[in-house]
Amino acid sequence: MIFNIQKCSIHDGNGLRTLVFFKGCPLRCPWCANPESQSYTADIGEYPNKCIGCGLCRDRCPQNAIAADGHINRQFCLEECKNCTDICYAEAKRNIGKDYTIEELYKEIKKDKIFYDIKGGGVTFSGGEPLTHGKYLKEIAEVCQKNRINVCIESCGYSKFEEFKDALPFIDEMFMDIKLIDSQKHKEIIGAGNELILENIRKISEYGIPITIRTPVVPGYTDEPENIAGIAEFISTLPTVKEYELLAYHNLGESKYAALGKEYLLKGVKPPSDEDMIKLVKLANSILNKYGKKCFYMKDNKKEEGTKC
Ligand code: SF4
Ligand code: SF4
Repeated sequence: MIFNIQKCSIHDGNGLRTLVFFKGCPLRCPWCANPESQSYTADIGEYPNKCIGCGLCRDRCPQNAIAADGHINRQFCLEECKNCTDICYAEAKRNIGKDYTIEELYKEIKKDKIFYDIKGGGVTFSGGEPLTHGKYLKEIAEVCQKNRINVCIESCGYSKFEEFKDALPFIDEMFMDIKLIDSQKHKEIIGAGNELILENIRKISEYGIPITIRTPVVPGYTDEPENIAGIAEFISTLPTVKEYELLAYHNLGESKYAALGKEYLLKGVKPPSDEDMIKLVKLANSILNKYGKKCFYMKDNKKEEGTKC
């Protein structure tokens, strides 16, 4: 199940990318900017500013779960019935998530092949967690590779190795997250320890796929210098990890939580300052540069490595 296909991205792999977002993630990061990616089944999104007040959704709801103002009471909603999203032509209630066959998805990806061929680029499978869809991922990545389309994966790394190992021969590059190096904190904040993630990163690197490691810098959660230094130490000796990217927290996904009837737990958390980001980048580089690797964060579409500060 795919919940979004986004064209013309320039930040998630080389060149111009088509991003394909898989639905379903085994982790629960409280700062997640794509909460619609978390469940493995289709969600119902509510967008009240589009509602024209026709009342058709209320008439069709078998549960009387829709209030006079059009708002769904999720406690009573059956979710899988989808009568309201089927009837709402204003798209004020929408299904998030659609099943694609391999043929259907490839048809979408290949629409931009001319751009990949001329300018470089390809497809990036993101999510959600694409590695938990190992068999499907292998099939679509294989079709792309056969057609000379570069394949990149964005992953949180939390999936059994057996689940996705057959896809590895068809992957050109990976972006993998390490959010917290302390497994206990990882479990408390995200819902699972990090052992499986670190082990997968090690195995994928030994397999030979180039990897960029990423850490979202979230004030009060992942921004302690010990955390960034610990992650830099871990990746310093991995053979195919060349770069470490710090991603400054943002709250752009907050409105999506309301659309899903979910609570945004990081209300009031402010993005880290440039100064804080530079300090962390410098700290990581003090460890990584000795191994020929570098850390950076993106500022104004440029890689900032802290050297000028
Ligand atoms: S069917 Fe759509 S437009 Fe009509 S009341 Fe329901 S949400 Fe609003
Ligand atoms: S999906 Fe939920 S809110 Fe929508 S019609 Fe069905 S029960 Fe009612």
